[in-house]
Amino acid sequence: MTPQLFLAKGREKSLLRRHPWIFSRAIARIEGKPQLGDTVDILDAQGQFIARGAYSPQSQIRARVWTFESDEQIDSAFFIRRLEQAQQLRSMLAARDNLTGYRLIAAESDGLPGITIDRYDNVLVCQLLSAGADAQRDNLVAALRHCYPECAIYERSDVAVRKKEGLKLRTGLLHGELPADLEICEHGVRIGVDVEKGHKTGFYLDQRDSRFAAMKYFKDQNVLNCFSYTGGFGLYALKAGAKMVRNVDVSQLALDTAKANCQRNAFDLSRAEFLNADVFALLRQYRDEGQKFDVVVMDPPKFAESKAQLNGACRGYKDINMLAMQILKPGGVLLSYSCSGLMEQNLFQKILADAAIDAGRDVQFIERFGQAADHPILSTYPEGFYLKGFACLVR
Ligand code: SAH
Repeated sequence: MTPQLFLAKGREKSLLRRHPWIFSRAIARIEGKPQLGDTVDILDAQGQFIARGAYSPQSQIRARVWTFESDEQIDSAFFIRRLEQAQQLRSMLAARDNLTGYRLIAAESDGLPGITIDRYDNVLVCQLLSAGADAQRDNLVAALRHCYPECAIYERSDVAVRKKEGLKLRTGLLHGELPADLEICEHGVRIGVDVEKGHKTGFYLDQRDSRFAAMKYFKDQNVLNCFSYTGGFGLYALKAGAKMVRNVDVSQLALDTAKANCQRNAFDLSRAEFLNADVFALLRQYRDEGQKFDVVVMDPPKFAESKAQLNGACRGYKDINMLAMQILKPGGVLLSYSCSGLMEQNLFQKILADAAIDAGRDVQFIERFGQAADHPILSTYPEGFYLKGFACLVR
């Protein structure tokens, strides 16, 4: 029989609102002996069925919901249904935005907690972040092979959060073979992706809509693309007719790929620069030297991994955005982003406002950005909203 988690009295409220997490303190008792990642039934204090989920004995999030339907079993057919549903949105977006790379499964937001799947042409890259996701690897791979027989499947479960779940890091091929050169297209821009050595699953798909929206600011401009990774915003800037784009990153591999990406698109390399430098130090140097730009893109890595780090993160975001404003010409545009889920949009706007005061500049917010549409936000899971940004006109 399926092991059963009985909730403490009154602790079913968030589940009835279809939030997919059960915290350890909400559980009164457990019947049966569920092991790491096992499927369990979740019942209220009266023994009424509420949901079926996966057990994470080592995590404060003690269980994550697979389904709220009592007659739905967690098998490969379940994963096929979830994939087919997720694919509908992605097929629409792929046709609309000319994409061969997108997030196919955005974990909780696509009804599959702990599972991220990105598609890069004919390669599917999976990240299994929770005990339940890890335990379902075989069912998931069977479902993927059924739905996408043309695709190779690669695992990139080398993410630190797995340790909180009692899981080891793990990477490698699950099916098929990787092509020697993997390329995706978005909005007509060609991008090489290294799913083995790249960040996350290989590319920052979540900034696609923001990269596209940013194109209107780049024509004939001198652009500083901070934290460029493999080109990202810089490629779109060249496509949009920027006069010059300086890409800055501390990863030489990322910069080499950025250059190769410019070549893939036959962009004029005399308009592109690739600088291996620490953005914090470089911006101070430019400020002190009086170097100025028309547009600065500021897309740093996540500064806050936990609530305890949020204050420090706020200082980091303020500092770096103050410097960015100081090196903009009057009337220049700062495109600034935060991918820290704990940093709410309102707080980020306040930080930019504080940065403007410290920079001694007048700033107007002229556009707001969020994560790309293949990273949807499920209404019952607001935590899925993590990436936000602003276009700031700096006077
Ligand atoms: N804008 C990119 C994604 C940026 S990811 C895109 O659209 O694809 C963040 C990048 O910041 C990574 O490539 C990482 O190597 C780089 N990075 C981290 N710390 C840095 C620092 N102090 N200075 C410069 N680059 C840094």
